[in-house]
Amino acid sequence: MNIVKRILSDLDDSFLMPSQIDLMEFKFEGNLFELNFHSEFYDYFSDEFKQKLHNYKIKPVLNDGWYSFTIPVNKRKEFVSLVDKQWHKLRSECRSKWLKRIGKHSKKQIIKLSKFQEYKCAYCGSPYSEETGVHEDHVIPLSNGGSNHISNIVLACSRCNIRKSNQNVSYFINNLEKDGIIKSRKIITKRFNSIMKFTKSLESES
Ligand SMILES: [Zn+2]
Repeated sequence: MNIVKRILSDLDDSFLMPSQIDLMEFKFEGNLFELNFHSEFYDYFSDEFKQKLHNYKIKPVLNDGWYSFTIPVNKRKEFVSLVDKQWHKLRSECRSKWLKRIGKHSKKQIIKLSKFQEYKCAYCGSPYSEETGVHEDHVIPLSNGGSNHISNIVLACSRCNIRKSNQNVSYFINNLEKDGIIKSRKIITKRFNSIMKFTKSLESES
């Protein structure tokens, strides 16, 4: 798997940027400077960087999936700036792929959806108020690869949204019936399906 894909598959709702992933390490020893790169990251490196290593006769040592380079301190700056450049490139590549993957929806679409749902929660059917709050619920959670397009969004009261968490919709609706929160999962499911159909039509409109 290439590194951009791997980073994207590691991402979930909680962070949008691959900023915390350990791909490199720096160490000092006397007047030598040690750079360590995870092999996936090193493979992503530019030819410019690799050429520079070659020119200075610096050879990488591969150990346990990490490449290690010992660089004289006086060359440190030029190498670090190349690493920075590469790191920025990787981040922006991941970011644009991520944004494309998650998609977007507009406020206008949410207003239309809210009206279609008659200002009632998609799951329990109770009217949402200022008190209960209204949440945009990702039908397939972003963490499971769901998108942020309107076709993956329904409006839910905060109680249902929090309760649903990562559960699959039909499982969640069954549980609502079991717990006596809704009377008929059949009615709710039918309504839910019509909401989903509506969000699909909203998406194809835009
Ligand atoms: Zn609800």
